[in-house]
Amino acid sequence: MKAVRGMHDLFGAEIAKWKFIEENVRSVFAQFGYQEIRTPVLEHMEVFSKTVGDETDIVEKQMYQVQKENESLVLRPEGTAGFMRAVLEHQLHRDSSCQRYFYYLPMFRHERPQKGRLRQFHQFGAELINDSSPEADAEMIALLNAIYKKLGINEYDIRINSVGCAECRPQFREALANFFKSHLNELCEQCQKRFERAPMRILDCKKESCQAVAKSAPLITTCLCAPCNEHHRRLKTRLEEAELAFIDDPTIVRGLDYYSKTAFEFTSSLLGAQSALGGGGRYDHLATRFGEKPFPAVGFALGMERLVIALEAKNSLPILQFSPMLYLAALGPQSLDVLFPLSLVLKEEGITTEIPYDSGKSLKSHLKNSNRLQCKFTLILGEDELKKNVAALKDMEKQTQVEISLDHLKIELLKRIKSEH
Ligand code: AMP
Repeated sequence: MKAVRGMHDLFGAEIAKWKFIEENVRSVFAQFGYQEIRTPVLEHMEVFSKTVGDETDIVEKQMYQVQKENESLVLRPEGTAGFMRAVLEHQLHRDSSCQRYFYYLPMFRHERPQKGRLRQFHQFGAELINDSSPEADAEMIALLNAIYKKLGINEYDIRINSVGCAECRPQFREALANFFKSHLNELCEQCQKRFERAPMRILDCKKESCQAVAKSAPLITTCLCAPCNEHHRRLKTRLEEAELAFIDDPTIVRGLDYYSKTAFEFTSSLLGAQSALGGGGRYDHLATRFGEKPFPAVGFALGMERLVIALEAKNSLPILQFSPMLYLAALGPQSLDVLFPLSLVLKEEGITTEIPYDSGKSLKSHLKNSNRLQCKFTLILGEDELKKNVAALKDMEKQTQVEISLDHLKIELLKRIKSEH
């Protein structure tokens, strides 16, 4: 049996890399004052179908569905819709002060797997609610930027755009629909179907033929209303003040329906074909899709697997090996009687300890093992030592050895090993 296509097991050196990245990203969220939120893997289908958009690839083809009795559930394909469901359910937005959350969760999308595109992948995300100002958008971009900088990734572009609002987007949709109407036979089958209902989706279509047509499509910038224009202008000023270099890119529309005003993407040459490192935007009207009053919100998501790819491309992931401090070599059953209880006591005292329970192994094979694990010390207890009521402590690096009386073995070991820490 093999794991499901596009879903991976993680172990050994991979886990060490992931932990390194996870700890660094979490530390940046803490620095910026974001608190964690965890939502369930399964949500009701409507959480996504009503919010992400019927015409999106995610809702149309990529959701994993679970039918149980009368419930139609899906495995979470993205973080924001479930976050919004949780906010509304627990009334978190009623405390009208600005609130900051982050999440780190597995996502599931039935996509065609390739490098950087999986069916189970992991996203870190941030969401800031109850603040409609461009400064909140600038904070989001600065936060995402700080995460990449913390990890030593500098090779990316920040692309920003405004996707308009309920006031001005209808004009843009109409202009787009008219434009695509005159290029219908150049579009893929799916885009031909959706050009009237969801013309903005075509801008996001990955098919070459559609991208070629989209290149000369009208730009949202020509349709933005005065408040959207002003919001975008102030965001740009804030980014300039913060010395965050960006590209004002009117083709960034993001794949999901719920965005308004600011949309942004970080793309990197380190990634190959799947060049999106992370992205997000403002979603002030998402609550209305749940039948609730709107409140301002902005967020982003970044792919964990793509961080791993970027850091591997730079060769800057540490190869971390877990090395116990002390290796206990029990030569014979009587020695194991002494060293087994000692190993438990030492572990409780915080000394990482390796002890093989096969007391028939030779000293040579114990020392080989200890070297392989890169243990700092090896404690040897064989027949000779037992007769003398001592154990031999070998410093594996210095290749020196001292004898310690079995009467104060624990205290002596703690003293010597802790002084090395
Ligand atoms: P999205 O939710 O599609 O805006 O994606 C946000 C980020 O998640 C992207 O920039 C990628 O880094 C990552 N991502 C999205 N889809 C996948 C996938 N299928 N496999 C791996 N990472 C993904």
